[in-house]
Amino acid sequence: MSDQPFDIIIQGGQVVSGDGVAELDIGIRGEQVAALAKHLEAAGARIINANGKLILPGAIDVHVHPVYMDDLGATSISAAFGGITTMVHFAYVRPGMPFIGTLEAFRDEGEAKSVLDFSMHAGMFDVENQLEYVPQAFEMGITSYKVFMTYAKLKWMTDDYHMLALMDVVADHHGLIMVHCENGLATDYLEDKYLREGQSPRERFMDMRPALLEAEATNRAISLAQVAGCPIYIVHVSAAPVLGPIREAKARGWRVWAETCPQYLTLTHQTTLEQGAIAKIGPPLRTAEDNAALWDALADGTLDTVGSDHAPKDKKPDDDFFDAAYGSPQIETMPNLLYDGGVHGGHFPVSRLVQVMSENPARVLGLYPQKGSLRPGSDADLVIWDPDKRHTLSHNSQHSNAPYTLYEGREVIGAPILTMQRGKVIVENGELKADPGTGRFLTTSTDSLYT
Ligand SMILES: [Zn+2]
Repeated sequence: MSDQPFDIIIQGGQVVSGDGVAELDIGIRGEQVAALAKHLEAAGARIINANGKLILPGAIDVHVHPVYMDDLGATSISAAFGGITTMVHFAYVRPGMPFIGTLEAFRDEGEAKSVLDFSMHAGMFDVENQLEYVPQAFEMGITSYKVFMTYAKLKWMTDDYHMLALMDVVADHHGLIMVHCENGLATDYLEDKYLREGQSPRERFMDMRPALLEAEATNRAISLAQVAGCPIYIVHVSAAPVLGPIREAKARGWRVWAETCPQYLTLTHQTTLEQGAIAKIGPPLRTAEDNAALWDALADGTLDTVGSDHAPKDKKPDDDFFDAAYGSPQIETMPNLLYDGGVHGGHFPVSRLVQVMSENPARVLGLYPQKGSLRPGSDADLVIWDPDKRHTLSHNSQHSNAPYTLYEGREVIGAPILTMQRGKVIVENGELKADPGTGRFLTTSTDSLYT
């Protein structure tokens, strides 16, 4: 570290936090923010001019699957180009895989390949046989545990008995349970019924996984968590009826956090009809009314965070819809779509964007204010954002290995022009400047959810 007060000064930008926007210079020393003031100078410091630009804390994507067409390294690069600086990955431990060994391998791969700092959630597929290892996973610094209430036929589903058993153990260790809420047995029945009738799985996709069964499962998961005394995080809320149980639980003061994704804010069943297998995601894309209700819920605090659910599967539009895997590339376009739709679209001010993309994810996982904030002492993880840049989303300009995006041809306003991690510029002028393995594994802490 140098002995001058700042290594870098970002001058003249509009610095955004969850509390508002202020024109401030940011002085960066080493890996951290050292000062914010009306005017900073220092001999020898690199000056970055940010006149007319916004400075956002780097986005924290808490919903990432870096195991399909993009590995941990490729996912981090795609994310960095989008303006994300921290990722929280789902480390899935499938039945039969060694629990702790799988988590360690995931962490080691990230430390070898990632250009961004990252944390992990453990994804549980076999609670009955995996539960005994959970205390050891806490010792690794993993404090969030995900289960599915759906995908019964795939044998991914956790039943209520085992979900409650897991919540008990997670609560004992002051952790967080994360749940994919859809009633899996009921959706399997509906799928069977429509297939038996010879109906198109693509056309009936929404009917096979109705919003009401997502709402039912959400209510059930929240109830079980409340019984266990375990804070709960609802992943990828996709529809208006799901907001009811979340609002009710929050009104009662229960410890419930909820996330939606850019795809549920900006796309509908029409996309599934037009784009076919590449638009198969779970829960399904729904209706324009659901989009509107989710924007409102993000604005009014019913929803706390946005995650990408980046899961770039190898598929083509004309693949058999029923056989196609669930998931799509989302990480790089998330900040674009949230800025364009949320801020430019008039749903909320840019300070709320920073709350849902940076501050709240950091707070839930105990990463705040090291991450998700630009106060003195915080890691200098930030994005210089051009609020006026108009551009068109296309698979040609994304850095994912997936050869498609669900947003092909969509014009958006606002774009990241520089991404910095811990004081180092990692993307500038469309160029990657970071080496693989410079990202660090971050332990999480959910203790504060229990106070
Ligand atoms: Zn997911």
